[in-house]
Amino acid sequence: MKFIADAMLGRLARWLRLLGFDVLYCRDIEDRELMRISRAEGRTLLTRDTRLARSKGLEAPVLIRSDDVREQLLQLADRLDFAAAAPRGRCDVCNSALEEVAEREQARDSVPEHIYRTCPAFTRCASCGRVYWPGTHSRSFRQTVAGLLRGRRED
Ligand SMILES: [Zn+2]
Repeated sequence: MKFIADAMLGRLARWLRLLGFDVLYCRDIEDRELMRISRAEGRTLLTRDTRLARSKGLEAPVLIRSDDVREQLLQLADRLDFAAAAPRGRCDVCNSALEEVAEREQARDSVPEHIYRTCPAFTRCASCGRVYWPGTHSRSFRQTVAGLLRGRRED
């Protein structure tokens, strides 16, 4: 399950990456290029653009209806297969899968001192080297997402 998001959906792209989904996102990309990559790589196009969503030759593009990232995530919830997501999430900057840092000490210089003292384990982007720890993106992010998905099921 892979996505490509249009320029309007930067926040959604970051959220999906943190959840472990593969999302290509580039702020400056032309519609034609979005469509080409979507087709070539079998990526579901996520777009706020009605015209683009109706383009011929795209496989099931998704017209995102809301400007609110929570609503956007909810709209996608049925399509998201969490079993297929990167288990430790993806780097919200470059979209690479995060891996566990084998030796804690390797993260020492990359995180604030109090974080190093209190966090038992860290993850790292295999591509850009950015180090993540539980709460990097604030507990509120995960709570928000969990709450959203839970609320949906209770509807
Ligand atoms: Zn990265």
